[in-house]
Amino acid sequence: MFELPPLPFEKSALEPHMSERTLSFHYDKHHAGYVKKLNNALEGDKRLDWKLEEVIHDAAKNDDIDVFRNAAQIWNHTFFWNSLSADGGGGASGKLAEAIEKDFGSMDAFREAFADAATGEFGSGWAWLVLDNGKLRAMSTTDAGTPISRGLHPLLCCDVWEHAYYLDYQNDRGKFVETFLDHLVNWEFANANFENQGEGNQIGARTYNENQEAFAKSGKVEGAAEEARKSLDD
Ligand code: MN
Repeated sequence: MFELPPLPFEKSALEPHMSERTLSFHYDKHHAGYVKKLNNALEGDKRLDWKLEEVIHDAAKNDDIDVFRNAAQIWNHTFFWNSLSADGGGGASGKLAEAIEKDFGSMDAFREAFADAATGEFGSGWAWLVLDNGKLRAMSTTDAGTPISRGLHPLLCCDVWEHAYYLDYQNDRGKFVETFLDHLVNWEFANANFENQGEGNQIGARTYNENQEAFAKSGKVEGAAEEARKSLDD
């Protein structure tokens, strides 16, 4: 069985840039929904005991579309929550900042490439900063597409499905992406993913686990996950 991972912050933590209302729908309905649908699709299947990444690779290889979509959306959303921070945005720091200067030319050029990837995706999808054979690249994926099934190493992502921004920004995806870059990007997470590249650790486990632990200590984990499960039964 796959579990809905807890959010690494409170739902109101990203106000006013991402509202509690958006996060309630996005996490409680969409993310929780993918977990429920994957568990239903894999009922009685040995893959229920696999790691999520293994399920994604297997489903991608075998064109198991329904399983791929739900498994990849679980992974992408968990990665997205960890790409956000209440005191995020601004410029990258550490080794990643140097790599951005080297591969994009400047932080502004990176922002432009990332925003182009995000707004250029025609329908539903995701914008990513990835490491592709040791070089940084901004890219988008369509629908549930995920860089991890293509041998790429994601550092951060932005969900550009309409459900990610419509309540707060209506049809203005560009404004949402600009706000993401200005105020929400968790550069510590991205930098940790960059520095972990040699460990085959595709979800930036160190920062991820620290976030989860901090949230667990806040005593809100069980409540939030339970709330999401209940909201799906409504
Ligand atoms: Mn989403």
